Amino acid sequence: PYEVLIIGGGPAGAAAAVYAARKGIRTGIVAERFGGQTMDTLAIENFISVQETDGPKFAAALEAHVRQYGVDVMTLQRVAHIEPAPQPGGYATVTLDNGATLKGRSIILATGARWRNMNVPGEAEYRTKGVAYCPHCDGPLFKGKDVAVIGGGNSGIEAAIDLAGIVRSVTVLEFADQLKADQVLVDKLRSLPNVTVHLNAQTTEVTGDGQKMTGLTWKDRVTGEEHAPALAGVFVQIGLVPNTEFLKGTIELSRFGEIVIDAKGHTSVPGIFAAGDATTVPYKQIIIATGEGAKAALSAFDHLIRTPAA
Ligand code: FAD
Repeated sequence: PYEVLIIGGGPAGAAAAVYAARKGIRTGIVAERFGGQTMDTLAIENFISVQETDGPKFAAALEAHVRQYGVDVMTLQRVAHIEPAPQPGGYATVTLDNGATLKGRSIILATGARWRNMNVPGEAEYRTKGVAYCPHCDGPLFKGKDVAVIGGGNSGIEAAIDLAGIVRSVTVLEFADQLKADQVLVDKLRSLPNVTVHLNAQTTEVTGDGQKMTGLTWKDRVTGEEHAPALAGVFVQIGLVPNTEFLKGTIELSRFGEIVIDAKGHTSVPGIFAAGDATTVPYKQIIIATGEGAKAALSAFDHLIRTPAA
């Protein structure tokens, strides 16, 4: 059994593991894929003090840092269910997909999130070759170029405003007949000279030359007209889905499925903490996830020293 059992091996889980292990307590980490979303990232240029790295290199560095402290690292394991401790100070039980169980006197949930895909031809093929999901991360790669943003909710319109200051032009494509973003954002967007908005626009394909994306096709759902603008990039902003399905009914989730945490990383269940993209913490970024992971581990340690073992 572990004093601290961490679920998820992305930036949040790795930071939690290092902080917990440095307290000299028995720490384990279970992850389907160590590195998490960073494994899908080409360039990382905003993790402060590291001017430039790439995703796989960053993920390898996370794992090396965790292993240096003798943490039990269990990868390629998916957690199916969590049973909170039956009494304060007892052990929570974590059940894996393969039926095996692990026990932790405290648990840190750091299962991250995934971007919702358009599921159109070319999207997967040109991912990181024009198809992007994070304007804070990849916006500068498209400096001076023409890009599209898919989605007219708050994240899509924020992305369009953000990108308009960097790229040559932004085309916003919204499937519905109106933008769902807050009015103040829509007003700001409408004031920008290099942004065009199309409503009732259904993206049908991402096109490219085999190496990189060169454009996309979209259909006007009212007139049926097809369009095929040339574009260097497309930012897909149709939702970030937290990996928390397995927690339904056990831990309080927001209406978006995010684990509800307080400022110290406490969840609705004593002894269970959470950090990173899977939670209600605003701004989903590596540097934020690592800080949150450290915080959750310190809170778990605080819980352990105050709660007599049952
Ligand atoms: P994740 O990285 O999502 O890690 C989740 C972990 O949990 C993984 O190990 C996963 O395998 C595991 N897991 C999930 N469910 C289970 C389960 N049931 N059982 C066991 N394990 C499970 N941020 C930046 O700051 N800079 C960038 O340049 C940048 N670029 C990005 C580019 C792309 C393409 C993407 C997708 C994201 C990018 N981000 C960037 C965002 C950043 O990657 C995330 O904010 C960060 O990885 C979140 O860390 P996390 O640990 O909370 O979750």
